[in-house]
Amino acid sequence: MQENIIIAGQHTSGQPTASWQQQLSRAIRDPAVLCQRLGLSDQWLAGADAGHQLFEICVPEAYLARIPPNAPDDPLLRQVLPLGDETLTQPGYVTDPLEEADHQPVKGLIHKYANRVLLIASPACAINCRYCFRRHFPYSESSPSRSQWHAALDYLQADNTIQEAILSGGDPLAASDRQLAWLVEQLDTIVHLKRLRIHTRLPVVIPDRVDNALLDWLSNTRLQKVVVLHINHPNEIDQAVVDACARLKQVGVTLLNQSVLLRGINDNVSTLAALSERLFDAGVLPYYLHVVDPVQGAAHFDVPDSEAKTLVSQLLEHLPGFLMPRLVREVPGRASKTPL
Ligand SMILES: *Cc1c(COP(=O)(O)O)cnc(C)c1O
Ligand code: SF4
Repeated sequence: MQENIIIAGQHTSGQPTASWQQQLSRAIRDPAVLCQRLGLSDQWLAGADAGHQLFEICVPEAYLARIPPNAPDDPLLRQVLPLGDETLTQPGYVTDPLEEADHQPVKGLIHKYANRVLLIASPACAINCRYCFRRHFPYSESSPSRSQWHAALDYLQADNTIQEAILSGGDPLAASDRQLAWLVEQLDTIVHLKRLRIHTRLPVVIPDRVDNALLDWLSNTRLQKVVVLHINHPNEIDQAVVDACARLKQVGVTLLNQSVLLRGINDNVSTLAALSERLFDAGVLPYYLHVVDPVQGAAHFDVPDSEAKTLVSQLLEHLPGFLMPRLVREVPGRASKTPL
């Protein structure tokens, strides 16, 4: 059993590194194992079990390696360990907070904003974040098969106002490189498309995802490339993540980051300032800071608007303007994210 454990940063030891697929298949998906591996006392297990029943735990080893043992309040642990609070229901906290089901002209394609379209390229994620607004998403109904992709591609082809294809999910990079290379090859042929954007947490969670196969199809597209990472805390950025970012930059990717403002995780000025600094050290610019979407089971992560606005105005005094993320909320029916 022991030799199956992969520790981040061991690439130089001369031992072969597991592929990202192997690392993903060996991710921890059992509340008892997660608690035991981190030396957490039994008091955490009941809540972890209850949350796991609603939205399964998933934590790859490379992410676990950044969490210290016996630290129940660790900001990375809090993103992946369910608390009993997840079972609470609260008025206004719903299962489809963004009403995405209403904006799918064809399966797997969400068209809400002008000039850009979101494609659900993979229903899976490499990590299950407890605050995720897609925790109740009916993925099996929304992830297209190869033949269904043709309907989505026809939709893009037919609307020459669309300049940007955004690969989303789940996590689009959970799809195989064979599938992604095929999809991007199809997108390349749509003449009015200018940009390919990829919203992903995989290079953060399993940095080995940024391998040669991925870099191959990214290098081959004629489209301008933007990768929007999802990092909430500076401790998420270890050397392996920095190296993965460098590989993406080498093939001409513009790197941005979006975070979620989370109670008990990054809801203070010093953490947010350190996050922006650490991102820029890795060649990544802060893009959005989202307030938590009102999804059932995530109300305990919520930071009230007034507090969020105060935090951001204080953050302005600590950072150059180009390292300030934009504080936004997603309001169903609006034509863009809504600045707070
Ligand atoms: C957030 C989102 C986008 C991207 O919005 P930007 O402001 O361009 O980052 C596009 N489509 C949908 C459906 C979205 O939810
Ligand atoms: S990686 Fe993104 S989509 Fe997946 S669980 Fe986390 S927040 Fe949700």
